[in-house]
Amino acid sequence: MQLRLARTETGEAEIFRSIQGEGPMAGRPRTFVRLSGCNLHCVWCDTAYTWNWRGTDFAHVRDAADAPHKFDLSEELIRLDIDDVAARVAQLSTEGVVLTGGEPMMQRDALEHLIAALKQAARAPLIEIETNGSIVPGALERAVDLFVVSPKLAHSGNNAAVALNPAVLRTYAGLANAYFKFVARDAADVAQAAALADRFSIAPHRVYIMPEGVTSDALRQRAQFLTQSILDYGFNFTDRLHVHLFGARRGI
Ligand code: SF4
Repeated sequence: MQLRLARTETGEAEIFRSIQGEGPMAGRPRTFVRLSGCNLHCVWCDTAYTWNWRGTDFAHVRDAADAPHKFDLSEELIRLDIDDVAARVAQLSTEGVVLTGGEPMMQRDALEHLIAALKQAARAPLIEIETNGSIVPGALERAVDLFVVSPKLAHSGNNAAVALNPAVLRTYAGLANAYFKFVARDAADVAQAAALADRFSIAPHRVYIMPEGVTSDALRQRAQFLTQSILDYGFNFTDRLHVHLFGARRGI
């Protein structure tokens, strides 16, 4: 069985050790495995090289009239055996492994096998998954230690019927080990996140609001507009530490 992974700029599978930049584990050292493929198409996605293939008509904020923000699937996607992925992860420190994307839940069956392989290590790593919350976890519910669920709000440009599926969100809301991270541009986005938290009975301490942006300047500017409403609702703020440290690059 194989996994479909993203590639770095130099063509390597995007498996790397870095500092978690977002959410409840921000600041912790982690090993990341970036999966390729996504069932959503956010207009501001900063990993569009995992899904925005040439020949598709998905819009993106980086589209130019003569140069849409598109990627070649054959150049950006690499298939690796699960044992190969597990071995590459094991070569890095495995205190915690973050399975991210793209949308990892599109490869649930293969991930179940990968997690089983990773858990065989003498010091089994903490397994975290970053998901857009539109696909139920299935058997991964028992295999994963921490879910960071990032439902996509209206400003992402997705079809809400797909991005905000009530049955799926209810499933994640019912998991004690699931935290929610909402990308926001302004106070109205925070209010939309609050309405979802209220509808699905997600306690404020489980909610993180993160400014949308791929530069330090943009993150700082948006954070200023978000702070008061985050305080009003009793949510958590999360920055994008990796953007400040490394910029918007792959494999870091
Ligand atoms: S869900 Fe995540 S990976 Fe998919 S398009 Fe949106 S931001 Fe990008």
